Amino acid sequence: MLLFIRVLGWLLILTLYWAMDWLNFLQAIKSALVGSLFILALSTWTLRDGRESRVGRSLNLLVVFLFLVINGFHSFLRDVFGVAQNDIIVVEAIFNTNPGESSEFILQNFWSLGKHLLIVILAAGLYWFLLAWRPVLFRRSSRAVHSNESGRGRIITIPAVLFTGLLILVHLNPTLRKENPLLYFPIRYAKWERYVKNTRALQDNITAAVGTDSSLATMSYSGEGPRTVVFLIGESVTRLNLSMYGYSRKTTPELESIGPHLLQFTDVITTLGSTVGDIRLMIGPATRERPELYSVKPDILTMASKAGYKTFWITNHSTDIAGSLAIIADHADVTVNVNRGGSRGEGSHDEVVLPEFSKMLDDPAPLKFVILHLLQAHPAFYFRYPESFSRFNDEDDAVARTLRADGRSLRARKMRNYYDNAILYSDHILKATIDLCAARVDQPIAWLYVPDHGEDVGHYSNFVGHNNRVPSMFEIPFLFWKSDRFSLDLPEKENLLARAYQTDLIDHTLLGLMEIEGDYYDPSHNVLSPDFEPSPRTTAGKPYP
Ligand SMILES: [Zn+2]
Repeated sequence: MLLFIRVLGWLLILTLYWAMDWLNFLQAIKSALVGSLFILALSTWTLRDGRESRVGRSLNLLVVFLFLVINGFHSFLRDVFGVAQNDIIVVEAIFNTNPGESSEFILQNFWSLGKHLLIVILAAGLYWFLLAWRPVLFRRSSRAVHSNESGRGRIITIPAVLFTGLLILVHLNPTLRKENPLLYFPIRYAKWERYVKNTRALQDNITAAVGTDSSLATMSYSGEGPRTVVFLIGESVTRLNLSMYGYSRKTTPELESIGPHLLQFTDVITTLGSTVGDIRLMIGPATRERPELYSVKPDILTMASKAGYKTFWITNHSTDIAGSLAIIADHADVTVNVNRGGSRGEGSHDEVVLPEFSKMLDDPAPLKFVILHLLQAHPAFYFRYPESFSRFNDEDDAVARTLRADGRSLRARKMRNYYDNAILYSDHILKATIDLCAARVDQPIAWLYVPDHGEDVGHYSNFVGHNNRVPSMFEIPFLFWKSDRFSLDLPEKENLLARAYQTDLIDHTLLGLMEIEGDYYDPSHNVLSPDFEPSPRTTAGKPYP
C-alpha cells in the first residue's frame, strides 16, 4: 500500500510537469521508470512490516529530492530556452562558464529559476507528506497488527531483491542511466571532455589538410577588378512565416519594399535542422552525402584567401565562440564577435552587427568576402527583438484565429507571436544591411541571405522548437540582391527563382559570385549559374519532397 502511494506520488508529480509542457513525453516516461524503480528498491529495503525508521524515510526523501532537482533543471531549460538537457549548447554552457557569466545568467533568469525552484520544493513537500503522514494515518492499524510482535520486523526480501535487480538492469541502458541524478553531471562532464578533445583534433586535422591540399592550390580569381560578396547566415527562419512568401501576417514589409531587385527563391531547403551541422555543410566542400569532409577539406574562407580575397566574419551568434564553427570563423582575416551577452534580461539584438559591417564595407581591400552570422529567431524568441518590434503579442488576426481553431495551446500561440516579432525585427535588420551596401554606390557588391534552418512554431502541433520531423524545419527563404555595378549574367528570372536547391551546395554559389575557379568549384551546383543542374535532395536523411 505504502509503496503504491509513493510511486503514485512520483508519477503524479511527473504528470503535472508534463501537463505544463515542461517535460517532453519521452523524458517524463524515462524519469517515471527510473524514479519509480529507485523508490521501490529503496523502500523495500527500508520498510519493515509496513513501518520505516527515520533514516529510511530520510534516505527516501533525499533520493526523490535529487530526482526533483534534476527534473526542475530540465523543466527550466525547456520552459525558458526550449532546449533539451543533452543539447551540446547546454553541456558547453555549464562546463565552459566562469563566475561572471554564471551570475549574469542567474540574474537574467532570476524569476524563472525561482519559479522552478519553488515548484521543486513544493513537490518535495508533497512527497514528504506521502512519506511521513501516511504512516501516521495508518499507525493505529499497524500497531494493532504488530503489537504482539517483538524485536525488529522482517525485510520483504523477494521484492527488495527483485526491484534492486531491475534497477541495476536499467542502468545497463545508456539512455536510462543518464536519468540517475547522481550520475547526471559526471556523465555530461565526460561528454564535454570528449567534445573538447575532438575539437582540438579537428583543429589539427584542418591545419594539416590545408597545408598539403593540392586542390586548394588550383583555386584562383578569374574575374576583373574589385568585388565584394556578403553572405548572411540567419537562424531558425522558416519561409512559412515570411509575408513575402505568402504568410498572412505582415512580417517582411521592409524587404518587400525593395521590389524586384531582391530575388526571392521559392524552393530552397536546408539539410539537417541544426545550427552547427548545417553551417558546416554550407561553408565548405562537405555535403549531405559526405558530411565528414568539413574536418579534412579547406573551408570557403580559406579558398577565398587563397584567391586573393580579404575575408571577414562578424558574428552575434554564441555557437561561434567555441567548437568547430569558432575554428572556421578564426580562418577569416578579421573575426569580430559583437555578442556581449547582457545582464538586463535581454538578448544581444542583431543590430549590434551593423556598425562593424559598415566598417568592413569601407575596408580598402579590392576583393572582400564578408560572412555575417545573425541570431534572428533563435530560441528564446522574445530575447531577439527590442520592445518596439513586439507587434503581434495581442494580435487577433487570421493567424491567431486559425491557431485557436486548430486547438493550439496558449503557450504555442504566444510563442508564435514572439516568433513573428523576431521575424519582423529580422526583416528590419536584413533591409538595413542591404541599405548599407546600396549606399556604397561605387562598389560592386553581391548580397546573399539564407538561414541555417527553419523552425517549428506550433505549425503542426503544440510543439515549439527544433523539430526535424516536419517540413517547416527545412523550408527556408533564400534571398539575393546585388548592386548595379556588380556584373553577373543571370538566367531568365522565372526559371531561376523556382530552382530546387539545397544549402549544402551553397559554397559553389558563393565561389561563383566571387568568380573563383578551381577544383572545388562546380558550376552545376551554383544556383545562379546558367550551367546549374538540380540534384536529388534529402532532409534529415530522407528524400525530399
Ligand atoms: Zn540554428
